[in-house]
Amino acid sequence: MCTTRRFTLAALAISIASFNAAAATPDDAAPLGKLPRWVQPLAYQLDFRVDPHQLEYTGNATIDIELKQAADHLWLHGHDLSVSKVTLTDSSKKIHTAEYKVAAKKEGVATLEFGQTLPAGRYSVMLEYSAPFNQQLEGVYKVNSQGEPYVITQMEAISARYAFPGFDEPAFKTPFTLSLTVPENQVAVANTRQVSERKLGDGWRKLSFATTKPLPTYLVAFAVGPWDVVNGPKIPATQWRSHAIPLRGITPKGEGQRIKPALAETPAIITALEDYFGFGYPFDKLDLLAAPDFAAGAMENPGLVTFRDYLMLLDANSPAHNVRSSFNVNAHELAHQWFGDTVTMPWWDDLWLNEAFATWMQSKITRQLHPEYRADLELIGGANYAMQNDSLVSVRRIRQPITGNGDIETAFDGITYQKGAAVLNMFERYLGADTFRKGVRAYIKQHQFSSATADDLIAALTKASGKDQRLAKAMQSFLDQAGVPLVDTTLSWENGKAVLHLKQQRYLPLGSTGEAKRLWGIPVCVRYSITNGAAAGETKTQCELLDQKQGQMVLQGASASSWYMPNADAAGYYRFNMAHDDLARLTGNLEKLPDTEQLAYADAINAGFGRGDLDAAAVLAAAPRLAKSDTREVATALIPTLQWLSRYEARSDAQRTRLTELARKLYLPRLQQLGYQRRANESQDDALLRASLADFLALDMKLPEVRQALLAQGKQALQPNADGQLNLEAANPDLLRSVLAVSTQDSGSTAIDALIKALGTASEPAQRMAMLAGLGSATTAGSAERARNLALDPRVKIGEMSTLLRASREDGEGREAMWKWFTANHVQLIKRSGEMSGSRLPGLVAGDSCSQREADRLAAFFQPLLEHLPGAERGLAQTREQTLLCTALRDKQDPEAILR
Ligand SMILES: [Zn+2]
Repeated sequence: MCTTRRFTLAALAISIASFNAAAATPDDAAPLGKLPRWVQPLAYQLDFRVDPHQLEYTGNATIDIELKQAADHLWLHGHDLSVSKVTLTDSSKKIHTAEYKVAAKKEGVATLEFGQTLPAGRYSVMLEYSAPFNQQLEGVYKVNSQGEPYVITQMEAISARYAFPGFDEPAFKTPFTLSLTVPENQVAVANTRQVSERKLGDGWRKLSFATTKPLPTYLVAFAVGPWDVVNGPKIPATQWRSHAIPLRGITPKGEGQRIKPALAETPAIITALEDYFGFGYPFDKLDLLAAPDFAAGAMENPGLVTFRDYLMLLDANSPAHNVRSSFNVNAHELAHQWFGDTVTMPWWDDLWLNEAFATWMQSKITRQLHPEYRADLELIGGANYAMQNDSLVSVRRIRQPITGNGDIETAFDGITYQKGAAVLNMFERYLGADTFRKGVRAYIKQHQFSSATADDLIAALTKASGKDQRLAKAMQSFLDQAGVPLVDTTLSWENGKAVLHLKQQRYLPLGSTGEAKRLWGIPVCVRYSITNGAAAGETKTQCELLDQKQGQMVLQGASASSWYMPNADAAGYYRFNMAHDDLARLTGNLEKLPDTEQLAYADAINAGFGRGDLDAAAVLAAAPRLAKSDTREVATALIPTLQWLSRYEARSDAQRTRLTELARKLYLPRLQQLGYQRRANESQDDALLRASLADFLALDMKLPEVRQALLAQGKQALQPNADGQLNLEAANPDLLRSVLAVSTQDSGSTAIDALIKALGTASEPAQRMAMLAGLGSATTAGSAERARNLALDPRVKIGEMSTLLRASREDGEGREAMWKWFTANHVQLIKRSGEMSGSRLPGLVAGDSCSQREADRLAAFFQPLLEHLPGAERGLAQTREQTLLCTALRDKQDPEAILR
């Protein structure tokens, strides 16, 4: 790229100029990835002056550094900062001047030129600067909520450089000391406790905060605004921590009451985590903040965790889905206080050490504190979802080498989170939970307040388990190569023994251009039935590390008529393909399997269909057996494949009718039994099942009786009440999205008008999401266009744009209209959402496409944009590949199979 060449030349000029200097000075180019190691930051003092009513803020950053060698410059990060003054003070208090120059604008790399060669040693660098509040939810950003401006920070991954000049790389962990100078009527919070307040006499006050534990730049956080501050229950002292921790909720003005349910759950999460790690919560307080606009779901800043508002603001009217997500996400972010905050990955290729661990740990904590949430099934569902993505040739590895900032952006995906969590779960099971915990505890203890890599973790687990290099190799085979293994299994009776033959290859869907030959170290665990002797009728589990292409297990006590499940407890991150007769025997005994394994069975059906081994008839035959399960996740596990058949394969009226009738038969009685309104004391799971069945039957299968029931709720909800506001509480909150979607489709512009009008004043975040999903579901041309245009309208928040745009692209017409709109408006869309959202853009605007033509136009359109959109290259490759795989699968299928 041109910036690189320019800075190679600049560096060359410097090296020539200082050729005669007494000490050699580094001769290097602007580092676009990692920073050189000859400068080490030691501590930061950051003083911000922030008034949310203004357009920019000012800062004063004092960074203690060590120059490890003589130099006439140093490299650091800074993005969109106007630096007005720089000084360097050496250890003898002598002050030197320096010049701040932008070195690579796009990457946010800058240089300080000293104008002379300074000897190695310690210095204090002071930079005075100003910067605009970011408009795209990065760095120090500003949002308006109910007419009031708020300032919030989001530094991960590489946005701290927008907030302050520094060494914005996770390997550099140092203490930070912050102060915030704010107007007297503004509330300000930061990572640590406030230690002093000084009124400045001019309507401003200066708040100083305690020095943090060593942190990377991406975990620095603060917020300024007219916040409500609510005290939660204190987190009592435990055997791991001698003092109580103060807990608070921080919400937009007037919303304080609604964060109390989330606060009430928090102390138990912290103490459960401490018990696991054997390590007390190490920070001096804990605030949970509900942000009125936010790019992600939540951010684990130590001591000041920020969440998208709908996860923290709950009441009796909150959708069941949000109540559950609130707990799950809170557990995830709090797990990060150890994984990520206490021990940090040195570079973004090991992001999984943060995210896979937090996802896996969140599941463990949720199982412990809310067993009824069935986080075990959620983990398996997440793994099955990751396996779909992991079947692509263009997929990332868990530890993908970082070749540019786009790779940092795309690292936050289902492979890092869900696949990573599933792989940890698999090895935890293989080593045993106690042994695994012993390894994790040793790892946290050894690397506390410092950094650690995957190899450090593997070493700790190897030591704790007493295993050899085979374990390390097996783990690395999942971390360092992409793809999901497919294990072929055949049970045969040989010399009086039941021998299970295993063979591994990469799972590849029909039409894939990938290479199936690939080897993993897979802990294969099999459950099988005992048919003879005293244990007859019971099952046994046996595990084996399969790290060759082929292997075998002798199933002790099994007979020729035993059935087996190739993925016991669904704990393995692999798919399986059973010999025909073996599968038939398993199918005949499906009801005897625990629901975890029934989910693995459902994945085998979905995977077999995707690979072209099973046709529509086989899927439809399997559906009733799963649909009747009492477990929601199992009952609904084949719905995505039924949706696929209905969208892409059914062509004739007879085929469509067959699918509709099957869906009606399988799911409508269940929905009618649940009813369309909440019932007193019903389980959260019933509410969730009602919502997914209503959505599937009304929006995908278009059952008139379900649509009418939703439409009736929509009529009431869209009726303005006395003060002119919509009456959204009249609808069941769990169904509100579907209710409003059916309304915009069937009530035409009346519903659209009412929703657009209400958007300007509506503030309840869950209701807003439902309104936007409803608007996005409009199908008539004019209405759909009006809805999409809202994505560029300030009434829709930046974090809400994707909800609006994602909603309707399931049919060919909807996708055509979306594509036309996107190609006409992409410049404004990218400008508003920010370049860093580029990786998700191809999927957002062209996901669910299913033709060669759509794949080609997508590639042709995005190709010239790639240079300006970090991460879009992978987003494009994946969306294009998914489109081509969908096309291949549709072409191969015989739609008549639906009727068999
Ligand atoms: Zn996370």
